[in-house]
Amino acid sequence: MKTIKLIPPKKQSKQGMLENVMRQFNKAADCIDLNVHIRKILEVTNTELLVHFPVRMDNGDVAIFKGYRVQHNNALGPYKGGLRYHPTVDIDAARALAMWMTWKTSLAGLPFGGAKGGIQIDPTQYSLAELERITRRFTYALGDNIGPELDIPAPDVNTNSQTMAWILDTYMSTKSPAERSTNLHVVTGKPIGAGGSEGRDRATGYGVFLNIKFWAERKKIPLKGKKFIVQGFGNVGYWAAYFMEKEGAVMTAVQDAYGSIVNENGISVAALLEYAKANKGSILGFKDAHPIANSEFFGVDCAIGIPAALGNQLTKENASQVKAFLIAEGANGPTDIEGEKILLKNGVEIIPDILCNSGGVIGSYFEWLQNRNGEIWPLEEVMQKLEKKLRESFTKVSETAKDRKVDMRTAAFIIAIERLEEAYVQRGIFP
Ligand code: NAD
Repeated sequence: MKTIKLIPPKKQSKQGMLENVMRQFNKAADCIDLNVHIRKILEVTNTELLVHFPVRMDNGDVAIFKGYRVQHNNALGPYKGGLRYHPTVDIDAARALAMWMTWKTSLAGLPFGGAKGGIQIDPTQYSLAELERITRRFTYALGDNIGPELDIPAPDVNTNSQTMAWILDTYMSTKSPAERSTNLHVVTGKPIGAGGSEGRDRATGYGVFLNIKFWAERKKIPLKGKKFIVQGFGNVGYWAAYFMEKEGAVMTAVQDAYGSIVNENGISVAALLEYAKANKGSILGFKDAHPIANSEFFGVDCAIGIPAALGNQLTKENASQVKAFLIAEGANGPTDIEGEKILLKNGVEIIPDILCNSGGVIGSYFEWLQNRNGEIWPLEEVMQKLEKKLRESFTKVSETAKDRKVDMRTAAFIIAIERLEEAYVQRGIFP
């Protein structure tokens, strides 16, 4: 059998995500002349946790790890947000991602606030047994700073339902026997057998697809036959591509951490998934496509671009190459401020991350509700409820953008910030 040598993940840019989210916030806050006191509250994070913890490696050595959890705001409900395992995880990345979560949950009308965290590691360097011990020890280090009614983590880059099952098991094991089953909703995105919800696995990618579909309906553009490209072929990228293909659109290029591939005539989503699974998660070497330089990826001819990997991917360096007329942000913060200016100037529309990938946190909310109420919903019910909620959000954002003559991102931020402003104005500031 031919063996394919994997290239180590590219170096990631982590600069500027915090600056981006702050500039996005300030632009919207200026538009609505946000109350100055509330602006001061929302500009900062409530709690920032940095933990160092030891873990025994397979070879008997002890390694020390650095983990983060940043809780931005909980005016609307418990903190909610993913845990990421990646070398770029640091305090500023966690702050930026936590803030985006606050806007996202507020925009979706959920009873949650925003948080984010993770561990600064390259998980490809560890065995599964080591990753389990790292996850369990991180959970123990977080202790009662997370909890089903306080702060509820979920999967993000390089974490998945298995990671959530380990967190749940560790967290529950620290509780008294009588309390254990009341803690099932301490994390979402769990495997079905461990209290997960039907549909949560595909919720983010399905939501990305639905947002593209709603946008295309408004513009009266059929998706059938339209070419799309996807950056990141993980949970979000794969499911978005799966539903786009089901609708008749054609995937022509994909990029992951190892490289980029293209086939103008179309790449089968199922065949690529099967290949990547057998190739340690990498798409490189897929026989029905040819490799291209990463720098050429966003310049590939297509109608729709779906960045579904990391932040700061569309910047002033590459935004002018974009051929797509629509960018649907599956990832958090994939377009930086300068990149966005160029895209908008060139007439490229952007469905912003806090709307476009909000299917994930809405799916998580459904899982949390089911666990809390002892209910189990069938897949069809989850998908219908998700579609209804996303359609409401999409309509609100589109109408606000039209009424206020602003882009969709600013409109989404306005709706999110106004809901928080109302909560603070009605409740006042303690004491
Ligand atoms: P994942 O770990 O399942 O997949 C990440 C993918 O990105 C992999 O294919 C990886 O190879 C690729 N990648 C990593 N670095 C890259 C690079 N420099 N260039 C190109 N590709 C690269 O992660 P995911 O859960 O799919 O998350 C992807 C994005 O979506 C993140 O920004 C995350 O915050 C956001 N998001 C995820 C969810 C969710 O439910 N998982 C919800 C909302 C938003």
